[in-house]
Amino acid sequence: MPKKKEEKSAGEQLREKLIYKKKTVFEKCPDEEKEVFEYAKGYMQFLDNSKTERDATAYSIELAKKKGFAEYRLGMKVKAGDKFYYNNRGKSVYFFIIGSENIENGMAITAAHIDSPRLDLKPNPAYEANGMAFLKTHYYGGIKKYQWTAIPLALHGTVTLADGKTVDVKIGEAADDPLFYVNDILPHLARDQFAKPTGSAIEGEQLNLLSGSMPFDTTTPEAIKLNLLRILNEKYGMTEADFQSAELCAVPAEKARDIGLDRGLIGAYGHDDKVCAYPEITAVLSLDKPKKTVMSILADKEETGSDGNTGMKTSAFCDIIADICASMKKNERIVRANSVCLSADVAAGYDPNFAGAFEINNSAIINCGIALCKYTGGGGKSSTNDASGEYVGKIRKIFDDNGVVWQTCELGKVDQGGGGTVAKFISEKNIDTVDVGVPVISMHAPYEVVSKFDVYNMHKAVVAFYTAE
Ligand code: MN
Ligand code: MN
Repeated sequence: MPKKKEEKSAGEQLREKLIYKKKTVFEKCPDEEKEVFEYAKGYMQFLDNSKTERDATAYSIELAKKKGFAEYRLGMKVKAGDKFYYNNRGKSVYFFIIGSENIENGMAITAAHIDSPRLDLKPNPAYEANGMAFLKTHYYGGIKKYQWTAIPLALHGTVTLADGKTVDVKIGEAADDPLFYVNDILPHLARDQFAKPTGSAIEGEQLNLLSGSMPFDTTTPEAIKLNLLRILNEKYGMTEADFQSAELCAVPAEKARDIGLDRGLIGAYGHDDKVCAYPEITAVLSLDKPKKTVMSILADKEETGSDGNTGMKTSAFCDIIADICASMKKNERIVRANSVCLSADVAAGYDPNFAGAFEINNSAIINCGIALCKYTGGGGKSSTNDASGEYVGKIRKIFDDNGVVWQTCELGKVDQGGGGTVAKFISEKNIDTVDVGVPVISMHAPYEVVSKFDVYNMHKAVVAFYTAE
């Protein structure tokens, strides 16, 4: 006879009631694998087409146009049900849908960033030395410089020519395209390098792109550099001086791929922060006639501090809101005061290989859903938006009511380091804001890792947030 199921002890019952236990996506949503894997395909396509902010802006606008979004220009009239995108200089984009209820009840805003760490070309990058031509770079965002050597790199961006015409450049993405490369020293001769701290094992001025090796002829001085410039001139009509008005970024050439035999993880360049940008896009494009006015922001320049007119500190953000309010004869200040925002940015995924950097009870564990980070910053909570308990409570309820798997986290151990997001630049506009995002392993490396299940929960979270009462 089967043994009768034993009653739970009073202690066990109380434990279940009172003790918080973090659960995995597999425990909480055991039947979602098919949707999760399907969703990941779209995300991986987005990644391969969105390595820079310019690429991400163009690609996401194409997706939005297919769903009936029209271009918005400041001064235009808006009405309930309108779907718009505001293209900020091709490097940042705001998608918004005018809701059916009074906008003074507040907007639901999400903000992710679409720039990622990389190597930008300097204004005068080309030189030749000892049989090789190079392009000098200045790194963009927080990188571990040694990680950018000896990997395949592609070049993306624009060149504005002397006549004012701008041409797009993309080299290294097609299967038979040539690539770029940053040299490293062989281990046999690395005694000096091995003795250095990793932070200076590769210096900024060593991040030079190997770009050519064949001379134009054997008599002209600097003939390898000349040959490189000849090829660029034939392809793009540019001269060396045109580098001065170019924005060219060296990014990892690898495509997004499944990681692990079970294919549950995605390896790719630039998960930070496309892994939150893509769920914002799919969420806003999934809406038909939302009650609330929703806005999905894809910002530039987060990795360098959110400065500049395409970063989150730009007045474009408030200008658009003010403009919508003017068109609807509503009070912009009331709208902002009642608005809510998710600063959608990645969290540091707990890594058992570097356990010492984390405090396990307050870390984002992979496959335990999206991570809510009440505050970021460093030291004694400096330079952070510390979301109020009440606002976190509101978001927590929205997620729980809608089956979003989520967890809370800090970046890492206290005083181990620090970091920020766009949250503080939005909350200072008198908008309740909290950081929520997908945990990433090896954040800011040329190839980062996330869980497909966590990505899908980010999509669910943004949909729930946009449609919450
Ligand atoms: Mn980020
Ligand atoms: Mn980052």
